[in-house]
Amino acid sequence: MKEYLSDRINSMSTSATLAMAAKARELRNEGKDIIGLSLGEPDFNIPDFIKEAAKEAVDQNYSSYSPVDGYAELKQAIALKFKRDNALEYTPSQIVVSTGAKQSLANVAMVLINPGDEVILPAPYWVSYRDIVKLAGGIPVEVSTDISSDFKMTPEQLRSAITPKTKMIWYSSPCNPSGSVYSREELEGLAKVLRKHPGIFVVSDEIYEHINFRSEHASIAAIDGMYDRTITVNGVSKAFAMTGWRIGYIGAPEWIARACTKFQGQITSGANAIAQRATITALEAPVSRIQYMIDEFLKRRDLILELLSDIKGFRVNVPEGAFYVFPDISSYFGKELRGHPIANASDFALYLLEEANVATVTGDAFGNPNCIRISYAASEKEIREAIRRIAEVL
Ligand code: PMP
Ligand code: GLU
Repeated sequence: MKEYLSDRINSMSTSATLAMAAKARELRNEGKDIIGLSLGEPDFNIPDFIKEAAKEAVDQNYSSYSPVDGYAELKQAIALKFKRDNALEYTPSQIVVSTGAKQSLANVAMVLINPGDEVILPAPYWVSYRDIVKLAGGIPVEVSTDISSDFKMTPEQLRSAITPKTKMIWYSSPCNPSGSVYSREELEGLAKVLRKHPGIFVVSDEIYEHINFRSEHASIAAIDGMYDRTITVNGVSKAFAMTGWRIGYIGAPEWIARACTKFQGQITSGANAIAQRATITALEAPVSRIQYMIDEFLKRRDLILELLSDIKGFRVNVPEGAFYVFPDISSYFGKELRGHPIANASDFALYLLEEANVATVTGDAFGNPNCIRISYAASEKEIREAIRRIAEVL
């Protein structure tokens, strides 16, 4: 029946993170003791003060359609958040609230990319960027980085990737999957190149902003010459453990925000009303209220790095944010483990799933074929057991 489906969907790949999580769920239902380190999802509950706000919103009958671009109070709270955390001045008319940052990204792609436009993706990049760009008719131009540059794109690499067709550059910092964080100086370096090309837009995905173990988070929109062509993407899935409540947002030049609202108005309308009301409370709270989760992620990062350092053949960078490690496991390629030939990272991730019952994600999905992604948004007990099993089967 595939021939009846559109070319659009037939040429799209399934999200590897979601596919691996579904596979782990399926195996668990079959009775297997799977440890899931594939999905990038905090294992914390939503903080009680946010849950209370949602309950109040239910009682206050926030049950009608919400404004397409978000409640005015929420956009105001987002504007204050941008000012407080990022030194960015966005008026509410420059803000659009969506059903997760994933929708924010899709909106931006649909309103800015024309068929044939090139979009530079420093690799490794978050799994959905490539397909969202392709869906909009764009051509992803991958710029490979590796562990030697801490998986960060240099200004020189950016310069040589730019062509007359370059429309945008998309990146995340802290980065999913590498955990790398661009410093302000590093962003200045990229901005210096971009200032010579005024027609290139930047999507700065800052959804892991608060899960950052450096003392500073830098937003490229705050750098000279960048504000008028940057779309700053953020959301509450990660720092507030609100993945299932589906709220993301952008701050952008007003004409881009307006276009996103127009697009969203034909596709999904305003985001979930209750989740939006709860997000007001989440964003108005001082970051100190969620610090316990950030502290815990740091402890787990140190733990997983220590445990992985005992495994032969893993080369690991020190991630400075998010909750992933992205080890280079290419030293296993060409080997056979317990009868499984390991030709690439997908074979390796499958081997870990089948023999160690640990779900990870192949680096191919993120544009790096030498690595796998391991999420450490799991309990210390699960992390210890998962790495023990991995070590055993290797
Ligand atoms: N960007 C990055 C880098 C992510 O890791 C995620 C996680 N799903 C998203 C965007 C989308 O987040 P959400 O749709 O849950 O807001
Ligand atoms: N961002 C998370 C991840 O990368 C959630 C899954 C998804 O939305 O693809 O695993």
